[in-house]
Amino acid sequence: MRITFPHMGNSYIAISALLKELGLTVVVPPPCSKRTLELGVRYSPEFVCLPLKINLGNYLEAMDRGADAILMAGGWGPCRFGYYAQVERDILQDMGRKFNMVIIEAPDSNLLSLLNQVREMGIKASWLQVWSGIRLAWEKLKAIDRLESEQHYWLPRVIDKGRCEKIVARGLKSIDECSEKRPLTGAVEKVSHELSSLARDPDNQHPIRIGLVGEIYTLLEPFANYDLERHLGRLGAEVVRSVTLTQWVNDHLCGGFLPSAPSLHNTLSFARPYLQYWVGGHGRETVASTVSYARQELDGVIQVAPLTCMPEIVAQSVLIRVQEVEGIPVMTMYFDEHAGEAGIITRLEAFLDMIRWRKSKMGDTNAQNLFGSRRRFSQH
Ligand code: SF4
Repeated sequence: MRITFPHMGNSYIAISALLKELGLTVVVPPPCSKRTLELGVRYSPEFVCLPLKINLGNYLEAMDRGADAILMAGGWGPCRFGYYAQVERDILQDMGRKFNMVIIEAPDSNLLSLLNQVREMGIKASWLQVWSGIRLAWEKLKAIDRLESEQHYWLPRVIDKGRCEKIVARGLKSIDECSEKRPLTGAVEKVSHELSSLARDPDNQHPIRIGLVGEIYTLLEPFANYDLERHLGRLGAEVVRSVTLTQWVNDHLCGGFLPSAPSLHNTLSFARPYLQYWVGGHGRETVASTVSYARQELDGVIQVAPLTCMPEIVAQSVLIRVQEVEGIPVMTMYFDEHAGEAGIITRLEAFLDMIRWRKSKMGDTNAQNLFGSRRRFSQH
């Protein structure tokens, strides 16, 4: 079996480590590109969400490299994700492709059920191998999260932003190449040290901080969000992203109980005054994280999602009220195959300019009236 899986940011590093430890031959699809999207768009129904189109392109490119099996997550709930794997399988079969599709149902908080599903894939690995694969993948996820947050911190603060990105990219490559846990820590520390030695931008040591919230795939896959985090960093803003890989694994596979990993379980209570119910996807987390960021005094929030994403449309309607009451500017950005990078950068520049202007006038009542004030927040 030559197995592949969809790209979602840097998660491929941990997923391929896990599958290799289980003794499988892994075909990592090429990084998402215009060609990936064109392939996906050509064979998908027009109205499906952007991540499905990109995933389909990933599979087709991986099959061109010899993949004959696909690993995909299942799902359930009010949004369309529960049908993703089945729709993808039907499209590929209609195209005459021959492959096996392994659908792992999200076992929400039941790690044992996940382990059983892995064994049911017909993998002959021992329990010990499965366990050591999971541990290595977990350590890689932690290392990836750390490097991503280092980049969020340093990119707006250093002068040579290209060098900063190259150091992080080299660190990610080292993490990908590690086949055991110990060198991972060294790789992360090396990146951290190199980044902190770069020349700092004296005019931007206290950059504005922007929270990124929204649909998980669009948040984590730079190709799906047109490299939003990189553009924000290069425009001088520090990014604080609500969803990370370790947080997702902790909340969805381990019930949020892993003490060393982030969790959104406690943050969810922040949504309560505005949104009482689960609306599918990360809709409730979007509202909760926005409220939490307002109370941590971040300077603004950007909500990202694929066009027509149902949970995020619900969240967007609630964020109008959150913005007023909590006193934080919020901008929503939807992405599909028709979006253009130049237009996205223009919107980001305008949003950041407005936030800098607002910050410089924090004592000015007219500016506060635009987006509410911190004073109003403190009354709640
Ligand atoms: S969360 Fe949004 S983008 Fe993801 S499957 Fe559901 S509707 Fe589509």
